[in-house]
Amino acid sequence: MVKVAFYDTRSYDKEAFCKANEKFGFAIDYFDFKLDSTTAITSKGYDAVCVFVNDEISSEVISTLASNGVKLIILRCAGFNNVDLHAAAEANLTVVRVPAYSPHAVAEHGVALLLSLTRRIPQAYLRTKTINFNIEGLTGRDLYGLTAGVFGTGRIGHCMAEILSGFGMKILCYDPFPNKAWAEEKGFTYVDKETLFRESDVLTLHSPLTPETKHVVNEESLKLMKNDAVIINTSRGGLIHTKALVHALKHKEIGGAALDVYEEEASFFFKDLSATVITDDVLARMLTFPNVLITGHQAFLTTTALSNIADVSLNNLKDFVEGKELKNKV
Ligand code: NAD
Repeated sequence: MVKVAFYDTRSYDKEAFCKANEKFGFAIDYFDFKLDSTTAITSKGYDAVCVFVNDEISSEVISTLASNGVKLIILRCAGFNNVDLHAAAEANLTVVRVPAYSPHAVAEHGVALLLSLTRRIPQAYLRTKTINFNIEGLTGRDLYGLTAGVFGTGRIGHCMAEILSGFGMKILCYDPFPNKAWAEEKGFTYVDKETLFRESDVLTLHSPLTPETKHVVNEESLKLMKNDAVIINTSRGGLIHTKALVHALKHKEIGGAALDVYEEEASFFFKDLSATVITDDVLARMLTFPNVLITGHQAFLTTTALSNIADVSLNNLKDFVEGKELKNKV
């Protein structure tokens, strides 16, 4: 029986994977703690581990996994910036992922964030919940006629560009590997990075986190942006230098930000910390701005996406066990 240890799991993971596993029959143990150097010891006796975005698959963890007999790391997500791929290859550990489970889920959440931010829905919701129907201070902006800058035009960037185009926005794109045929067909324009920052009213981030994209939104690039532009990030927190963003927000050099990800999210996200003292001053400051909206890495969280993630992850494991070619190998 193939044994798999699942890390950093919640009820929705268990529900989706239990259902998908009915047709595979793997022996799965679900742990609610993350996989990192302090917990890697728990992988003993398992053939594979299944991890998510904030598990830390460092070279130290990989060495423990390998000596515990683990052969496969199953990422139940698209991004793989949290895995030391070099160490995995050296230790002969295979890494698989779910490259696309529902780009629509993530893009639609980005749009939900954008509209919530620009139309001040959280403030309105809190007011009407207390029978306050005053609309002073809730003035928003039409998206129609504004310019959206899409940074990274892969699967999610495509969806986002097409949805925003539906609002009547002009679409500018940046990607080192531009899809020119798609852009031409849709009437979108690829521009250089600087133009994207300068001309966007809405900058939406959809590239992976790599050394090239780390802190792409920084003090300098924020200075290029319009003072009333907003930034949407459903990609990875590390794309934004959050301290620089705090500075720009404080000095009204940027119109707002709606974020599903945060560069230091691993210590906070996916947990209820409402009864504890927040130790991260940058996150605490971010939460004080009326023009900042944060969700806790939930863009993927739809029934469609969860079911696709479970199916693809377990199929990846099945292919590995049967020695088949791994189309989702990282
Ligand atoms: P994708 O691989 O289909 O597209 C990524 C695009 O980024 C590609 O077109 C690539 O050429 C481009 N890119 C690469 N380097 C770049 C650079 N230096 N500058 C600009 N663009 C660059 O990936 P996707 O499925 O669209 O996902 C995008 C990212 O979204 C993932 O890497 C992941 O980090 C994030 N994501 C977040 C959630 C969530 O729940 N918040 C869910 C899924 C994915």
